[in-house]
Parts: sequence; C-alpha cells; structure tokens
Amino acid sequence: MKVSLIEYTPNPDYTAAFAARVCYSSNTEKLKLDNEGVKNILRRVIKSGHHSVLEHVNFTFLIEGISRVATHQLVRHRIASYSQQSHRYTKIKMESFVIPKGISEEAKRLMKKHFNASIELYNKLLDLGVKKEDARFVIPQAVSSNIVVTMNARELLHFFSLRCCVRAQWEIRHCAIEMLRLTKSKAPVIFENAGPSCVGGRCPEENPCDNIREIREYFKNL
Ligand SMILES: Cc1cc2nc3c(=O)[nH]c(=O)nc-3n(C[C@H](O)[C@H](O)[C@H](O)COP(=O)(O)OP(=O)(O)OC[C@H]3O[C@@H](n4cnc5c(N)ncnc54)[C@H](O)[C@@H]3O)c2cc1C
Repeated sequence: MKVSLIEYTPNPDYTAAFAARVCYSSNTEKLKLDNEGVKNILRRVIKSGHHSVLEHVNFTFLIEGISRVATHQLVRHRIASYSQQSHRYTKIKMESFVIPKGISEEAKRLMKKHFNASIELYNKLLDLGVKKEDARFVIPQAVSSNIVVTMNARELLHFFSLRCCVRAQWEIRHCAIEMLRLTKSKAPVIFENAGPSCVGGRCPEENPCDNIREIREYFKNL
C-alpha cells in the first residue's frame, strides 16, 4: 500500500487557530497570531472540545494498492469524501491482490492458489461475454484498488483514535498511521496528541494494552 498526501489546506495550524481567534475577537483587523499564539489557542480549543474550528482544515490522500477488506472499513467513516477505482470499469489482474504479511508461507501459498483460480474463472466469465461488473462477483475481498479520501482535521482526529489503535485491523491501521505521519508533518500542533485514544488520554478498552507507555512514545515521535 502507498499513501500520498495530494492536497491540503495551506497553513493548517494557522487556519484553525485563526478561526478560533475570530470567535473571541470583536475586531478582525487586529487579529495577529505568531507561532506561539497559534500553539496556545489551538491547544486550548482542542482541550476544551471546541473542535468545530478544525473543520476548516482539509487533507486529501491518494491510497494505492489497498484491499477491498480495508476500504470497506475506511468508507464506514461518514464525515469524508471518497472516489474509488471501479471494478465495473477496470479489469482485475492477478497482481492486484493483497496478501497479509503475518501469515505462514504455506498459508500464503494457499491464498495465492485461490487468487489464481478466481482470476482464471473471472477471465473465463469475461470470455463468455459476462460484464466486468458481474464477473467480479467471483473475486476475493483481497483484491486491491486505489482510492482518494478527503477528511477534515476534526474527522481525522476521530479516525486516528479508532484506526491507529492496536485493536484495529492491521491494514486499516497501517493506512491510518501513514495518514497521520503525513498530516502531522503539515499540522504539528493540531495532531500533536493524535493517535489511538491512549495517546491524548486514557484507554477506553476494558483490557488496556500492557505497553501503553511505548505506544504513547511511538505516536508522540511519529
Ligand atoms: C476496532 C473496530 C471494530 C469494528 N467492528 C465492527 C463490526 O464488527 N461491525 C460493524 O458494523 N462495524 C464495526 N466497526 C465500525 C464502527 O462501528 C464504525 O462504523 C466506524 O468505526 C466509523 O466510526 P464512527 O461511526 O464513529 O464515525 P464516522 O462515521 O467517522 O463519524 C464521526 C462521528 O460523527 C458522528 N456521526 C456520524 N454519523 C452520525 C449519525 N448518523 N448519527 C449520529 N452521529 C453521527 C459520530 O459522533 C461519529 O463518531 C468497527 C470499528 C473499529 C474501530
């Protein structure tokens, strides 16, 4: 999988801080914010839950080579926009399948055999005149595609809290961590405590991980 940041609101930290500043000023002409001012006001509004100011900041990503297993989870996040490669219009090829890294060589071999058989059947169906949109019914969920995603910073913080957690499925987690790495490089103040819920507060799970300190450290230094 490859995650790229293709577009974002210029000066994201400043934009959100400026929006917050407007809320507390009667004269917009006198609004001035230096780096320290941006940090102070953003930390205050994020802590207080005044998160609507983060909706003025948008990020657009291109995610390539992600499985349908993972995109199905991704598109459950409703406060976002998506454009996904269509398998009604594009032909599926053998190299389009995602194979989980954490499984044994024997399990990988069996999976590949199954993917090969499904592609063989898919091609046979196409040869019989079946449309791509119908032939794809025989294809496993491991099939990969490309997707463009736009989320605002408020939704991203929520998305990261759920999908960067070790309880999330490995592929969506990998995707979320790459997205966080990219957003953090452009908006270090908004995303300074971003990551699973345990990074900015307490873990909501019944049985928290044993290594919360290491997890916090990892995300703080991302
Ligand atoms: C570890 C994990 C396991 C999961 N397992 C399953 C599963 O087994 N089955 C399954 O179906 N799903 C599962 N999900 C998906 C999960 O239920 C959510 O659909 C998904 O995480 C999207 O999150 P969301 O609804 O909070 O947020 P988004 O859709 O990203 O929305 C953001 C926030 O906006 C608000 N919001 C959005 N829409 C509405 C609305 N209609 N009404 C009120 N408030 C709204 C909510 O506050 C919401 O948190 C799982 C998710 C995770 C992280």
